[in-house]
Amino acid sequence: MELLYVYASDYFEGRRTGSKGQKIAVDFLRDHYMDLNIQAAEGTNNYFQEMNLKVDGKMVSTENVAAIIKGSEFPDEYIVLTSHLDHIGIEGGQINNGADDDGSGTVTMLEIAEALQIGLENGYKPKRSIVFLHVTGEEEGLLGSAYYSENPLYPLEQTIVNLNIDMIGRNDSLHDNDEDYLYLIGSDILSQDLHDISISINKKYSNLDLDFRYNDPQLKVYERGRHYANRYYYRSDHYNFARNDIPVIFYFSGTHEDYHLPTDTVEKINYPLLTKRARFIFHTLWELANREDRIRLNSDRKYLNIDKNGR
Ligand SMILES: [Zn+2]
Repeated sequence: MELLYVYASDYFEGRRTGSKGQKIAVDFLRDHYMDLNIQAAEGTNNYFQEMNLKVDGKMVSTENVAAIIKGSEFPDEYIVLTSHLDHIGIEGGQINNGADDDGSGTVTMLEIAEALQIGLENGYKPKRSIVFLHVTGEEEGLLGSAYYSENPLYPLEQTIVNLNIDMIGRNDSLHDNDEDYLYLIGSDILSQDLHDISISINKKYSNLDLDFRYNDPQLKVYERGRHYANRYYYRSDHYNFARNDIPVIFYFSGTHEDYHLPTDTVEKINYPLLTKRARFIFHTLWELANREDRIRLNSDRKYLNIDKNGR
C-alpha cells in the first residue's frame, strides 16, 4: 500500500512512455533495487535498458528497468517476472494514475523482490536466476517487451518461463460474490507442467479460486457495449515471450469501470486481496525456481501461428 500510494500518485503524472512522470517512475524502481542490494541485470546501463520508441508519431527515449538475483545451481536458467511500468499519462488535463493498471503488478514485483532478498540474507537461495523486468511502452502496443524480446539481456532459449502481472488489485463484475479469485491466462498453452504446478501450489498455500476461462482466447467478453473475443493471451507483455515459445502466465483480475480512466486510483485497490494474490505468485515463482527439473514444453502447442493481433 505504501509503495502504491507513491507509485500511483499525481507526482508520477500517469507515467506516459517518454514523459517526465515515466522518468520519475524508472528512478523510483531503480532506487528500490539499489536499496535492496539486488544487482542490475547485465547489459543494462545501471538497471536501465534504454531504447527509442515511437509514441504518438514521434520518437521518445525510454527504458525498461531490469534487476537480477542469480541462481545458485542453475544460474543459466532464467525466470523473467514482468509488469509494465508505464501508463497513459495525462488526458484532457486529468492524470491517469493507473493504480491497478499497472501499479498493482509493479508493487507486487517490488514486494516479491524484497521477500526474495530477505530470504537470500537468511540462506534461502533460489536455484534458478530470477530477472525482474519492468517494461515500458506497454500502453503503446507492448513495445518495451517487444524490444526486450528482440534484444534480450539473457538468452530466450534459457528463459524457462515468464510470469507477467498486469492488474491484480481489483475484482470484476463476474466475481462480485467471490472475491478470492485470480485469472491465470496462458498457463496450459505452452506447458502443461506450468498449469499443474499452479494448481498444486495454490492448493498448498493460497486457496484462491483460480479462473482459467481465458485460456481460450476466443471466449467472448462484454466490453464497450459489445461482445468481443477476449484475446487476453495477446494483450499484455507476456505475449512477446509466448511468441518466442516461452511458457507464460498472465496474472490478471479483470477489467472494471475505471479501466484506463482517471478514476483508477489507489483507494479502490483491495489490499488484502492484492496481498493474497502476490503471495500466490511468489510461491509459484519459488517452486519454478527450485524444482529439480525445468518445466517442459508441450509437444503439441496451440496458438503458435496466430499473428500479433490474435487472428
Ligand atoms: Zn496494463
